Amino acid sequence: MGSETGIIVYHLSPDCTLSEVEEGKIYTAYVQGFANFGVFVQLNERVKGLIHKSNLRGKHSERDPVLVKVLGIRSNGNIDLEEVNPSVYHTEVVVKRSAPVLFSDLSRFIGRTVQIEGVVAQIKQTSGPTIFTVADGSGIGNAAAFLEAGVRAYPEVQLGNIITIIGEVMTRNSQLQVEVSSLAVLTGDEENRVRAAFEQIIESRAEPQDIPFLIRSEALEKLRPVMRKVAKLIRRAIFEAQPIVIRHHADADGICAAVAIELAVSALIREGGGDFDAEYFMVKRSPSKAPFYEIEDITRDLDFALKDNTRYGQKLPLILLMDNGSTLEDEPSMRFAQVYQIPVLVVDHHHPDHEIDQYLLAHVNPYHVGGDFGITSGMLGTEIARMINPAIDHQIRHFPAVSAVGDRSEAPERKWYLALVSEQYSEDDCKNIALALDYEQFWLRFNDGREIVKHILNVTRESEVHSSLAHLLVEQANAMIEEQMAALMPHVESRILSNGVHLFLFDVELFAHKFTFPPPGKTSGEVHDRLCQINTGKPIVSIGVGPDFAVLRSRGVLMNIPRMVRELHDEIMGGGISGGGHLVVGSIKFVEGMRSTVIEGLIKKISEAPVEMRNP
Ligand code: MN
Repeated sequence: MGSETGIIVYHLSPDCTLSEVEEGKIYTAYVQGFANFGVFVQLNERVKGLIHKSNLRGKHSERDPVLVKVLGIRSNGNIDLEEVNPSVYHTEVVVKRSAPVLFSDLSRFIGRTVQIEGVVAQIKQTSGPTIFTVADGSGIGNAAAFLEAGVRAYPEVQLGNIITIIGEVMTRNSQLQVEVSSLAVLTGDEENRVRAAFEQIIESRAEPQDIPFLIRSEALEKLRPVMRKVAKLIRRAIFEAQPIVIRHHADADGICAAVAIELAVSALIREGGGDFDAEYFMVKRSPSKAPFYEIEDITRDLDFALKDNTRYGQKLPLILLMDNGSTLEDEPSMRFAQVYQIPVLVVDHHHPDHEIDQYLLAHVNPYHVGGDFGITSGMLGTEIARMINPAIDHQIRHFPAVSAVGDRSEAPERKWYLALVSEQYSEDDCKNIALALDYEQFWLRFNDGREIVKHILNVTRESEVHSSLAHLLVEQANAMIEEQMAALMPHVESRILSNGVHLFLFDVELFAHKFTFPPPGKTSGEVHDRLCQINTGKPIVSIGVGPDFAVLRSRGVLMNIPRMVRELHDEIMGGGISGGGHLVVGSIKFVEGMRSTVIEGLIKKISEAPVEMRNP
């Protein structure tokens, strides 16, 4: 009877119901009653079936054990059985199929065996077990599977698979972890069922809270739907254990925007449990030197992401660009992201080029709703951060004011945000914080300065450290600016253009210190501010010229720098022209040998621009 050795007889445990009974399988049962058409048997206290007399193999008395095969289960729940007598078989216990435990409830099951279902978000091989990070929508947790020290367990499981795990809930290094006793990849209907359930949980959980903005602003209200969308996509990424890369312009505005999101995200990751250091490898903030996403930046980001993906089984990241990302200058980098289908979000207040939107999942930009750069990235970032995680509100509510003075916003929102925090921070305090951020970022170069920046922004409320540090940075920054201005101001040349614009030209390489603070962009800004003060009420354009670049600032002139740059690119053959920026603050690059031709072309364009202010 060798053919029968593989026969399994199932034993229904007491809490099982009809839903655990399957057609074609053999079960243990006992006789319960007799009728003239057959014998009634119980599979357990809850499940009863009938062996028709034609399917009986012997005579029985009440409570006799029998083995029965399920021939069919009728729609009314009646079970048709056949008595069987396999000579060799083994028994397996059928346990009640329970709803899987959610990660958010895991702490109530310590020491117990549970079932978990979810999406594999990360697979990490340690020198001991293989750690599967699983997201089930309610949370993220780790399951440890051990085959042999350092050997990958369940090698068939891949990132993004839907799996079901049975294991014991343990505490390891004071973190909850499921010790896997069995693990299977779900396919077909089962997979679809879990995926759909997961999708439903995560969709509703990712929905940001509806909270009022810190100030009343029509422009912000118009942006609310797309800000919500960004907040939701970021929340989703967190709940799905997708890393987030925050790229931002390396100035006070960009820093405020990005740090606000970083704080919101980190706090949410901590809240969700998972790994202690998850907030360090799941969210990364990187300053970009240029006010756009350079190929150098995306190359670094891709390099890290692909290595983490290969080495730690981490998902590819979501990229969030702040205070950059909205112009054609960003396009080459976005095409790299597209190759890997990396989702990109933009929160910016530079004048946007619509061509860029084909690469973006969402794009927050005041120009889309008739606003302008006066709505700073720091304002947008702070409000989005509050949507992501309202709990950090008190840490970031002064960020918009700092960003507004840092970016010289002239929008009404500037004074509203300043008024909001005026009890703790005067306008001068905000200016000092902005300057301290700019100055510190100069020394940080490509580093995020995560903790130092928190001290400068007074996030940690260590007021002693904050004020000493900010004071020191401001003192040094101002000394260096004064030094630079003392050297440069005597070399500023001026002329009045045909449209009445007062044009100021100065060479930021020949008459300023190189490779130190303030860099050419900021140097030009400082000169421009001084010239504006001297020439009250007059339309002004300042051009800080370098060997192969120029930095533009203006007041009272309706310029469109990105458009001027594009026109010059087409008009001046061999100029090698590129650049952009805001409408009235920006930069242009060219080849050194064409410098005077390009600058003269630029001045001609400026002399054609309409003037807002009249000469007194
Ligand atoms: Mn900005």
